[in-house]
Amino acid sequence: MELWYTEEHTPTVRFSIKVKEQLVSKRSPFQQIDVFDSEEFGRFLTLDGLMMVTEKDEFIYHDMIVHVPMATNPGIRKVLVIGGGDGGTVRELTRYDSLERIDMVDIDEMVVDVCREYIPQTSNRLDDPRVNLYFEDGLKFVRRYENEYDLIIVDSTDPFGPGEGLFTREFYGNCFKALTVEGILVNQHENPYYEYYTEAMKRAHRRIRDSFPICRVYQAHIPTYPSGHWLFGFASKKYDPATDLDAAAWNARGIETKYYNTDLHRGAFMLPTYVRRALEGAE
Ligand code: SAM
Repeated sequence: MELWYTEEHTPTVRFSIKVKEQLVSKRSPFQQIDVFDSEEFGRFLTLDGLMMVTEKDEFIYHDMIVHVPMATNPGIRKVLVIGGGDGGTVRELTRYDSLERIDMVDIDEMVVDVCREYIPQTSNRLDDPRVNLYFEDGLKFVRRYENEYDLIIVDSTDPFGPGEGLFTREFYGNCFKALTVEGILVNQHENPYYEYYTEAMKRAHRRIRDSFPICRVYQAHIPTYPSGHWLFGFASKKYDPATDLDAAAWNARGIETKYYNTDLHRGAFMLPTYVRRALEGAE
């Protein structure tokens, strides 16, 4: 008998991966959590039936959500990760000796426990002494801070279910307040290709732009996400990620990456015309 994981990318488009084995299936108070093993993508985590990380392509997402802001401002010291329960974003951050504090707030402790047990590839740096883990709604957590973080990374699920609040105007406004004068906010920004996601992307872009003076979007190719074309938002009080990139400083750190490099950093902000138009039309 063959076992396949199938995800609906739209009501008429499906994406399937042949599964070797289902490793865990649990229901937390917030969502359905599953981990599978597969030939092509290795182990992968899904939440409410949606792909979160696979061992084979997670490096693309985590490189791009972490190294783009870190290379833009080498002075970043304190970081807040909202979501990110698989640990991949924290793992990449711990590679920077210059970071003093990495706070991570995920609404669902069970995701972290499952990833510690079944996906050590992403969760293996959560015990770094600079990392502090909090388990509560990121929307509420960020309200408490003012002028605290140099970088906030929103590594969330999609804008429905527990992640919905992390795409609201109130949330972006509170992130602005929690950031220092040089602060940067990076978020996963959905995909530009399928109409359903395009609407979420435009809405998020409009709301972020209302809160931050600098608001850019960049892209990466992530095979297991809908359409394979994924966007990230870069919002900032001071730094422009294209013109302020300090390539020499980042390359001097000697951090080895499989996807990110400083040439690609610049190129990632060069968006296809239809994406540009969609974002410009997000008035
Ligand atoms: N790379 C992934 C993606 O874009 O598909 C995201 C991965 S990470 C597993 C997403 C995390 O966001 C989950 O662990 C989930 O529990 C967390 N999350 C969802 N809503 C949240 C909220 N309101 N506050 C904090 N964490 C939240």
